[in-house]
Amino acid sequence: MRVMVIGCGGVGTVAIHKIAQNPLFTEILLTSRTVSKCEKLAEKLRSKTKATITCKPVDADSVGSLVAVMKEFKPHTVLNVALPYQDLTIMDACLEAGANYVDTANYECEDTDNPEWRKIYEKRCKEKGFTAYFDYSWQWAYDEKSKKAGLTALLGTGFDPGVTQVFSAYALKHYFDEINYIDILDCNGGDHGYPFATNFNPEINLREVSANGSYWEDGHWVETKPMEIKRVYDFDQVGQKDMYLLHHEEIESLAKNIPGIKRIRFFMTFGQSYLTHMKCLENVGMLGTVPVDFEGQQIVPIKFLKALLPDPASLGPRTVGKTNIGCIFTGIKDGKEKTIYIYNVCDHQESYKETGLQAISYTTGVPAMIGTALVAEGIWKGPGVFNCEEFDPDPYMEALNKYGLPWQVNENPVRVD
Ligand code: NDP
Repeated sequence: MRVMVIGCGGVGTVAIHKIAQNPLFTEILLTSRTVSKCEKLAEKLRSKTKATITCKPVDADSVGSLVAVMKEFKPHTVLNVALPYQDLTIMDACLEAGANYVDTANYECEDTDNPEWRKIYEKRCKEKGFTAYFDYSWQWAYDEKSKKAGLTALLGTGFDPGVTQVFSAYALKHYFDEINYIDILDCNGGDHGYPFATNFNPEINLREVSANGSYWEDGHWVETKPMEIKRVYDFDQVGQKDMYLLHHEEIESLAKNIPGIKRIRFFMTFGQSYLTHMKCLENVGMLGTVPVDFEGQQIVPIKFLKALLPDPASLGPRTVGKTNIGCIFTGIKDGKEKTIYIYNVCDHQESYKETGLQAISYTTGVPAMIGTALVAEGIWKGPGVFNCEEFDPDPYMEALNKYGLPWQVNENPVRVD
């Protein structure tokens, strides 16, 4: 089976390790903007896999550049682990070249001052009631085209989004007649020893965290100020952490696809030092996405900040501790209310030993490979555009155990108030 991967950063590196471990994939094409990163990784993996690995540079902002590479390689499935900015160009190219499409994050516009995008964005904010820069409408709009082309597009198969939706489908299939409440808890108990660094692409990460929060309740969005809602939770194998309510993309699709749902919230843990640094950077304008003139050069503050911060891909050797990510479900089974918690615990150093990357990249890259494999094998098959909760969760859950992200179910968890 021929698979093409676009992007060779933190998440891509783990996904490619895992693709190389899966005998389903016999021909692997690694593509990215900086092809030397692909070549370095291919060199490392060739002795560990029977698959052939080749590399090509690609500009994923250009449909033409993508189509040329795809038409030559003829991938069955394309895994996009570049940035959310490239989702639409890659989806367009897949349609043109006749390849299935898989990604880990929904479309986000790089230039949020683009007047055409802004018009659509402002209309959506009014109609839907949340102000995050990303939403699924852009990619769901490809459903008809994908159906006509007989192709499958699987959106958001990382951990969150991704595994959290598979956990939801699994809970619904095996534990509940109806799920009414979902709390998604994303805890990173890792310590990299830097005063400030982000665990994945700083630009994407800081844009997400500094935005307004929101949750879904009784059929509509409730928006909060950034970090307005705080809870403390005692996480298995990590301990007690502060966590804050954020807007998160899978809330949008779960609200659409889980019948009987009354509320969905997403919480992520942050230490006080991270929040203080971020607030300070925001206050001085370093999170800005609009170019500013500096000594005759146009500089985008958040891109400059990215250049100063440690590369997330370099955090692997220094990060110790564990992540604990999962969902608490409350619903009805046989007429009685019950609550369960499905979660995975992942160790930063174990992830590093296997792939050279810490657990944030690992917990995203493993599910990226699993989603790609299920689409490639036709076990998750369209045609059309799908989110992870729309397919049978069982083969995915089995693969999580097999490929390094074993999960557990607690049938008597502490709930979040
Ligand atoms: P990185 O910045 O580490 O890697 C991005 C890669 O994409 C780099 O190799 C980069 O190339 C390449 N790239 C960027 N722009 C282009 C372009 N125009 N053409 C070709 N290649 C390009 O990001 P991460 O690995 O941290 O994140 C990857 C994706 O995973 C993101 O979409 C992120 O949002 C998502 N993610 C999802 C999570 C989930 O749980 N669902 C969690 C964490 C991340 P270069 O080396 O030249 O910069």
